[in-house]
Amino acid sequence: MRVLVVEDERRLALALQHGLTAEGFSVDIAHDGLSGLAKATERAYDVVLLDIMLPGLNGYRVCQRLRATGSDVGILMLTAKDGEWDEAEALDTGADDYLSKPFSFVVLVARLRALARRMGSRAPRRTVLGDLVVDSAARTCTRGGVAVPLTPREFAVLDHLARRAGEAVSKREILDVWDSGADSDPNTVEVHVSALRRKIDTPFGRAAVQTVRGAGYRLAADGG
Ligand code: CA
Repeated sequence: MRVLVVEDERRLALALQHGLTAEGFSVDIAHDGLSGLAKATERAYDVVLLDIMLPGLNGYRVCQRLRATGSDVGILMLTAKDGEWDEAEALDTGADDYLSKPFSFVVLVARLRALARRMGSRAPRRTVLGDLVVDSAARTCTRGGVAVPLTPREFAVLDHLARRAGEAVSKREILDVWDSGADSDPNTVEVHVSALRRKIDTPFGRAAVQTVRGAGYRLAADGG
């Protein structure tokens, strides 16, 4: 499970990264609102742990802007219990849950897992990678707001890469999406990946579908 921690208190951010990594999470850190927003739109996270008091752009604004891009990532806001910032506002701006500082690490982990479970079962799922939007429910793809028509098999490849955005995915695994026969040829995946690139990347001057030598392919944010 991939978590982005947006927290300007560096010691707390590092402690969270160490603690959550030990719990099996994959954790990235941002120390201010703008870089947090940038990371959250560039990579596919399961949950964003978002502090409210942040330099650059506060947590409420980060949350609003993230939702405005169409992102449905799980957002857990860290609120300070001083009365100035209230939990209702956190939820109003699009957060899924909140936790008051100071919090118990055990409670935080439980909330993150619960939120990730809710997100995982929530359909429809849209993946936003830069200016590329993959809508798994509607089975549509847009690049920079332009609809890109794909064949069912091309969409299946893209959808699978999008669900694992940022990770290397093997040809075998992609092939299994539509053909789990052990004797089928993983190289047929290359044909569909090439076609996909000609549609979602080349005309837009992008290179989001990357070849990972010896491993397969990776879908990354490029442009937007
Ligand atoms: Ca703070």
